Amino acid sequence: MLIKEFISKTNKNQMISILLKHYNVGNVKVKQKSMKNHAHYNVDTGTLELSTRYKTIKLSQVKEFLITILHEIYHAMDSKKYGWKKFKEMYEMEMNYRIAKDQDEYKDNKFEIEAEDFGQKNWKKWNSKFKKDKLF
Ligand SMILES: [Zn+2]
Repeated sequence: MLIKEFISKTNKNQMISILLKHYNVGNVKVKQKSMKNHAHYNVDTGTLELSTRYKTIKLSQVKEFLITILHEIYHAMDSKKYGWKKFKEMYEMEMNYRIAKDQDEYKDNKFEIEAEDFGQKNWKKWNSKFKKDKLF
């Protein structure tokens, strides 16, 4: 039996592109970047920055990978909904609000909580769909 441990780059990129299109943020660019976090949505440039540690994904990383992509897509959706400048302002206000309340600017940030919920709620159905489509 052949165990395919890694997902091909083509299939990985296809998954990202399917997700971006599905959530109507198909104009978002994707860039691999060496960074501390797993991923980051750059509001100013409309770019989904993906850690180089995701250059190749192992099967064991699929869940984490899908949650991460969906999380960042949610930021892209918010950015589209409010307009990126407005969203950036709202996000910064939320950070200041959390700091003023002696909370964590990210962990307690409502935009981060919503984005993470979105990832947690939706990764399973995409996992099943991509599996069915033989993307991994
Ligand atoms: Zn986030």
